[in-house]
Amino acid sequence: MKVSVDKDLCTGCNLCVDDCPDVFEMAGDFAKVKVDIVPANLEAKVKETAGNCPVEAIKVS
Ligand code: SF4
Repeated sequence: MKVSVDKDLCTGCNLCVDDCPDVFEMAGDFAKVKVDIVPANLEAKVKETAGNCPVEAIKVS
């Protein structure tokens, strides 16, 4: 599973970084993904985090 953050939508609220720091990190004013492939044991967490993003900037594929 892959995940990405749409910088045009991200408001830098930090929620995803707080929620799942193994996958997301802040890069200036935006969140970015720090892994190429989401580890299997974090897939459910990443999906949950994507659902919690207040501006739906996190895309799972
Ligand atoms: S939860 Fe969404 S808006 Fe907030 S930092 Fe993460 S990607 Fe950006």
